[in-house]
Amino acid sequence: MADFLVLGAGMVGIGTALALQARGHAVRVIDKRAPGQETSHGNAGVIQTEARMPYAMPRDLATLIRYGLGRSNDLRLDPLAVPGAARALLAYYHHSAPARHAAATQHYSAIIAGATDDHGRLSADAGADALIRRTGMGEIYEREEDFEKRILSAEVLAAEFGLNLSTVTGTDLRTQEPALISAPAGAVVWEDTWSTSDPAALVQAYAALFVARGGSIVQGDARKVTENISGWRVDRDGGHLSAEHLVVALGPWSPAMLKQLGYRVPMVMKRGYHGHYHMNGQLQRPYLLADHGVVVSSMARGLRITTGAHVTRAGAPRNLAQLNHGSAAAGRLVALDGEVDDSQWHGVRPCMPRMLPMVGAAPRHRKLWFNFGHGHQGFTLGPTTGDILADIVAGRSDALTQALAP
Ligand SMILES: Cc1cc2nc3c(=O)[nH]c(=O)nc-3n(C[C@H](O)[C@H](O)[C@H](O)COP(=O)(O)OP(=O)(O)OC[C@H]3O[C@@H](n4cnc5c(N)ncnc54)[C@H](O)[C@@H]3O)c2cc1C
Repeated sequence: MADFLVLGAGMVGIGTALALQARGHAVRVIDKRAPGQETSHGNAGVIQTEARMPYAMPRDLATLIRYGLGRSNDLRLDPLAVPGAARALLAYYHHSAPARHAAATQHYSAIIAGATDDHGRLSADAGADALIRRTGMGEIYEREEDFEKRILSAEVLAAEFGLNLSTVTGTDLRTQEPALISAPAGAVVWEDTWSTSDPAALVQAYAALFVARGGSIVQGDARKVTENISGWRVDRDGGHLSAEHLVVALGPWSPAMLKQLGYRVPMVMKRGYHGHYHMNGQLQRPYLLADHGVVVSSMARGLRITTGAHVTRAGAPRNLAQLNHGSAAAGRLVALDGEVDDSQWHGVRPCMPRMLPMVGAAPRHRKLWFNFGHGHQGFTLGPTTGDILADIVAGRSDALTQALAP
């Protein structure tokens, strides 16, 4: 059995550490912060087993122009970001062609299908079941014609992927969710989907399980990575760590780290925002407000409203337009009572142009492994791709591992 150092203690890094540990390896994790404080904290907390198709980039000019003009709350494209992101965006456009998207969907649906089971095992072992709601996820539609249209397309998806779907009229939804103050046209509910009331706490619970099983987590900023005769050396503030094998699970920071080793990894950085709001009552499950491109979910600090994507420059100032639009829409549905202090956050969905995470052996270095690029569903997929990577380390090779290979 070997000695591994995992870079990154988000859902993906911790999922990977647990999976390697379960196969008998000695594993340490390094993160500049405590576990689950970055993207794995700021997300909508949905364990999205219904998300069988990865998000493709729309290829029609009219939609792209709407994004560029800020006319859609689902996605905004900052035109100033285009030159710097051109390579990744062009590759994303290429892979989003219908036949390529269908091929990616085949693999994506195969990995995401097992995600709730994988979380279920870990949360039970971690004693964290209380953090997980097995109550599904809804999509709320305001207009009758949109609701009717979505019922038809959702039924096709449910039949294709064997998912449990229910449809609820606005009146019935108000009975199910007493916190609603108005009735939309209706909602479709993906019954198999889970969610958490505190994403960071769930990562921390899994991290505590990893430590209880003999793993260790080192806090430090990994600045420099070098290959040496016995494996890998990671320089951090105040010292260095050495290990035979190194796993890069740094989410959106992975391309910057790998640049040191000569890899140019194109990643589409889809920024997202959240804010928390005081609310009278609770929702039993998260809802996508389909007309407004935000997800609302009752969480430990109040109602968390999470936005769609904002493709902008790294370091560009916060643009709260999507969040403000979303909170106004949410305020027409539930009684909000002001924003929770210091609760605004933004982070980046690490999206690969081919719409599949990169999981496997680095192409040009021995004993270097990648596990990043989980895009919109890394909170869901962390434990699952951790397992897949541990299998690859043990020699697994099949159509799925080839599709995920860096
Ligand atoms: C607004 C929004 C909503 C989302 N909603 C969902 C959802 O509902 N469901 C879902 O499945 N996914 C969702 N996602 C996506 C999901 O959050 C991400 O795919 C996932 O969290 C990525 O996990 P990760 O472990 O790869 O990255 P991270 O959680 O970002 O972990 C990377 C870690 O690397 C560490 N790090 C970085 N640089 C260094 C360094 N130099 N040295 C040491 N450590 C370092 C960071 O501190 C961090 O802890 C959402 C994302 C966003 C932005």
